[in-house]
Amino acid sequence: MPIYEYICKHCNHQFEMIRSTRDLDSDIECPQCSVKGVEKLMSICKAKVEMSFSDFNNMGAGTSGSSCSGCTASSCTGCSSK
Ligand SMILES: [Zn+2]
Repeated sequence: MPIYEYICKHCNHQFEMIRSTRDLDSDIECPQCSVKGVEKLMSICKAKVEMSFSDFNNMGAGTSGSSCSGCTASSCTGCSSK
């Protein structure tokens, strides 16, 4: 199950919680002040995965082209994606 990061809008306490997707929309209590009013943050793990995935795509596009490694043409599809 994915881990989500939350920050309490009441006391600014930041915490992680494992949640199933069907519980995503339910209210979450801050473990520190027990106030329902937390804000979901973008998971660091998820951001890393997305970033490396797009890097992988860029690498694939670069290596599939014949001469894109040294090409600086703006019209080149392999170079313009960088
Ligand atoms: Zn709190």
